[in-house]
Amino acid sequence: MLLTLTDLQRQLHQIDGKSYPAYKDIRGRYGFEDATLFIDHVQGDPFAAPSRLRVRLPLAKAGFPPETYHQRSRLIALCDFLARRFAGACQAISDRSRGSGKSGLIAMDRPGQEILERSAIIITTEFVEARFVMGLPARGRRVLGRQAAGLLGENVPQLVEAALRYTRLDQPQLNAHLNAAEDADALRAQLADLGLIAFVADGSRLPRRSGVDDRPLHSDQVVPFRTPDSLKVEVTLPHAGRVSGLGLPRGVTLIVGGGYHGKSTLLAALEVGVYNHIPGDGRELVVTDPTAVKIRAEDGRRVEGVDIRPFINNLPNHSSAAAFRTENASGSTSQAANIIEALEVGAKLLLLDEDTCATNLMIRDARMQALVEKPGEPITPFIDRVRQLADERAVSTVLVLGGSGDYFDVADTIIRMDSYVPYDVTAAAKVIAAQQPTGRQAEADGSWPASTPRIPLARSLDPSKGRREVNIKGRALRAVLFGAEEIDMTAVAQLVDEGQVRAIGQALNLARQRFMDGQRDVAGVIEAVIAEVDRHGLDALDRRLTGDYVAFRAYELAAALNRLRSLEVRQS
Ligand code: ADP
Ligand code: MG
Repeated sequence: MLLTLTDLQRQLHQIDGKSYPAYKDIRGRYGFEDATLFIDHVQGDPFAAPSRLRVRLPLAKAGFPPETYHQRSRLIALCDFLARRFAGACQAISDRSRGSGKSGLIAMDRPGQEILERSAIIITTEFVEARFVMGLPARGRRVLGRQAAGLLGENVPQLVEAALRYTRLDQPQLNAHLNAAEDADALRAQLADLGLIAFVADGSRLPRRSGVDDRPLHSDQVVPFRTPDSLKVEVTLPHAGRVSGLGLPRGVTLIVGGGYHGKSTLLAALEVGVYNHIPGDGRELVVTDPTAVKIRAEDGRRVEGVDIRPFINNLPNHSSAAAFRTENASGSTSQAANIIEALEVGAKLLLLDEDTCATNLMIRDARMQALVEKPGEPITPFIDRVRQLADERAVSTVLVLGGSGDYFDVADTIIRMDSYVPYDVTAAAKVIAAQQPTGRQAEADGSWPASTPRIPLARSLDPSKGRREVNIKGRALRAVLFGAEEIDMTAVAQLVDEGQVRAIGQALNLARQRFMDGQRDVAGVIEAVIAEVDRHGLDALDRRLTGDYVAFRAYELAAALNRLRSLEVRQS
């Protein structure tokens, strides 16, 4: 017979004042009204990681009309919306009922500016389920049973009412959320047919509050985005209807302009244009090719067996550039590895900002070529490869540049940012390029060289630490803790949610257990993990059914694997 929430409350009153482990007995499931509460994990002491719970409501009782979830963009956005409501309702309760430490905490991670699939809210054909954590109340190491009975018996039903029932939600707001996601996905899906790699709608508001606050800058100083006529593209979207904006064509694009004129802000918006944004964000209709990868220099990173010969050859000390390996890459070799690794897993758009690039990988001008002639310089700069990438590999580049006009020769589109307003200066730049030749020698001979696939070895990944067989955690957006290792993710720009970092840690372990068979190469392993998550959802990552995980891309998963210091590969 199914126990009820009333049974649970009775039990909690009985263990009031007992020592904390008495809570262990409340693990289980409890029915209330038309919902079910699952207590999956009970913390061992008041200072341990909080207890894990789920509440489930039959879909029919939750009352969502089919048009709120009948299509994938809307389903993800609906779950995302519910997560925001649920997290907000948790916060309101916690603010009222908090004791010391985690005692009395009820929490679900609060989503940021992106609409993403999250394991915190699951909708199946049968039910909607919210997953959250609770710090079971304690005084010292004693059970506060009456307080726990209040949290579980009264607050949990309130959460269900506040966040999981359609009739209780702000419906215009919900609709705007679903429509924003559906429009952004529809727009992204049109890019390829239009020959575009990105679109920035007129009126978009790109600047953020600060480097650590991703919310929109609210100020009358914000200059809304305005497209120059020559680059204007019109699209039709399911909800927004006809929308005009900047369509960035395939090929090589430069964003030039004086310092502080909004170049990096535009590029940063393109970086996260692989994700959908919430209404009011300002970047709702800024979308980018979903395979876009931000590239930067990252000196100090480890590199394992990467074929960096397109950029580096004839290294001193007989290091091999065909299977480049280092514990401590330089600016140029790290950036070269970052590019090759992104291409390895299918990136078709590279985003670079000179602020974070290694100058010597980007350019060697005529004077430097004259002084240090080719055999003494292992680097073939990006300027000599960028056209090959576009023409032979269909890999486009967007490059923010203030310092070197040598790139005018190799660009298809040149945009100048002037006081945050974009201008098409392609023709003017081409005239200058013709009048003032750079005198450079092209340094890339032949075409883009084929790279050797790498096969990652499962034995080189060890998720254990001390007595724990699996020790995997996220540390904000900065690092994946994998076993005894801390994988540095600070240079991986397109992570936006801590849940992605945690999910990537688990995904590495899934890759190790299931897909690193000594046959699949890096691309094959990553693809298999992504396919598994597509098929079974984020729960494919963890049997424990936690609300910890947020959808991630192949590129960020590969980035974590590539930065794992213990990684070993075999070239096939
Ligand atoms: P750049 O890369 O050209 O040096 P940034 O993109 O870093 O310039 O922008 C400089 C400053 O201007 C930043 O503080 C940014 O938030 C702000 N900014 C960028 N775009 C806009 C805009 N459209 N309206 C108002 N301020 C903006
Ligand atoms: Mg800048």
